[in-house]
Amino acid sequence: MIKLNNAGLLLDSCPVDGEWSHARSGQTMAVVNAATGEKIADVPLMGQAETRQAIAAAEAAQQEWKQQTAAERAKILHRWASLMHDNSDDLARLITLEGGKPLAEARGEITYAASFISWFAEEAKRVDGVLLQPTSADRRFIVTKQPVGVCAAITPWNFPAAMITRKVAPALAAGCAIIVKPAEQTPLTALALAKLAECAGLPAGLLQVLTGDAKEIGGELCRNATVRKLSFTGSTQTGRLLMAQCAPTIKKLSLELGGNAPVIVFDDADLDLAVQGIMASKFRNSGQTCVCANRIYVQSGIYPALCAELVQAVEALKVGNGLEEGVTQGPLINEQAIEKVERHIHDALEKGATLLTGGHKHPLGGNFFSPTVVANVTQQMSFAREETFGPVAALFKFETDAEVVNYANDTEFGLAAYIFTRDAKRQWQIPEALEYGMVGVNTGLISSEVAPFGGMKQSGLGREGSRFGIDEYLEMKYVCVNL
Ligand code: ADP
Repeated sequence: MIKLNNAGLLLDSCPVDGEWSHARSGQTMAVVNAATGEKIADVPLMGQAETRQAIAAAEAAQQEWKQQTAAERAKILHRWASLMHDNSDDLARLITLEGGKPLAEARGEITYAASFISWFAEEAKRVDGVLLQPTSADRRFIVTKQPVGVCAAITPWNFPAAMITRKVAPALAAGCAIIVKPAEQTPLTALALAKLAECAGLPAGLLQVLTGDAKEIGGELCRNATVRKLSFTGSTQTGRLLMAQCAPTIKKLSLELGGNAPVIVFDDADLDLAVQGIMASKFRNSGQTCVCANRIYVQSGIYPALCAELVQAVEALKVGNGLEEGVTQGPLINEQAIEKVERHIHDALEKGATLLTGGHKHPLGGNFFSPTVVANVTQQMSFAREETFGPVAALFKFETDAEVVNYANDTEFGLAAYIFTRDAKRQWQIPEALEYGMVGVNTGLISSEVAPFGGMKQSGLGREGSRFGIDEYLEMKYVCVNL
């Protein structure tokens, strides 16, 4: 079974109402190794009753937490981040086992995840109010910010640690309590993070984790009026459903949903840099991130050279179990993910696209897929409409700037976009014309705790990280004093 340096980080119970608990029904759900399909653990299958209990406990705990000074809250958060660094090897191992990403990427995720905790520990100290100019001499207009109260987070499997800390850290920093429902594929990382928060001195009830039935737990979190805010990262389809479920209680919402990221490579681009950027953005986590390049638009002059260099880079990737040295591409999360990739490739080839490399399941079997490049893709193919979420680079050819901006914006999504050009005018004008929340210019890596992460259109609501991210967990209050 799993061997960790700190055996206490492998948990089969959930922190609810101050206890590490099992489901009342006694039922559990299995967690499997993404690379081998073997069962690695069982976690509680919790439902509505446990969710209600957690909400009540969160409400009570938050009353005290919000009275603490920002500096006191920050101290605990810094200790938590530091414990994550100390246990980075174990946490990374858990991520690789249950989620499949290569160990080096998993270690990178832990650093990234902890960065949100340190960042928001400091941002807590900068939650300021203002005194506005009154409209008459005997009045004072005061604006303050207060924690929203009890929050809920529903998180995905592709970043089992970072998508939790990016929500939990600002919530705790702001003085809120938060209940996390992690993805069913990756609950072990979530439980280990909660254990470390407890070791850091976080009082009980402020960070609770509920593993189990998504519909039951999610349904209660959305319906319950005590929960004032929901932060969700996942598919647009589930986001729509949760938004509708939150409508009756008018909850504050943050939604980080699907993307369909365009990469635009202009003729004047630095070819090596563009290929490097595409590789970083497209093949991270085997293409399973919401900011992964989905449509690669290449101007006709540079098209043949880019195709050749990209194929070479893709063929150098090493597919395998993420625990093995040198592996750069882990398995996809499940069979449906493989089916979607196969469907998109099949659709494109049927409509006239050309397969340059890959295009099939990897000889390793299981959920491994060979990194693929498809050329001559057009706007009529599934690649243009849907997020593939797999290791396939789909190359489109274009001629003019106006044409490619139209193509890039022709989607209901608007999360991340990337452009590669040496032309200073394009570096300003194209990002301005793109309807995306984030644009990378000459880079395929844009995420950072310092910058606001989030999308436009049906990619979501709100921003995470950065100095703006804490506002999602604060309410503004205006006090008018008549002297
Ligand atoms: P994916 O298809 O990539 O797994 P989802 O949006 O379905 O993306 O999953 C993201 C998160 O949303 C997971 O934690 C999942 O359990 C949760 N989820 C899925 N469906 C529901 C639902 N009906 N209610 C609450 N949570 C849900």
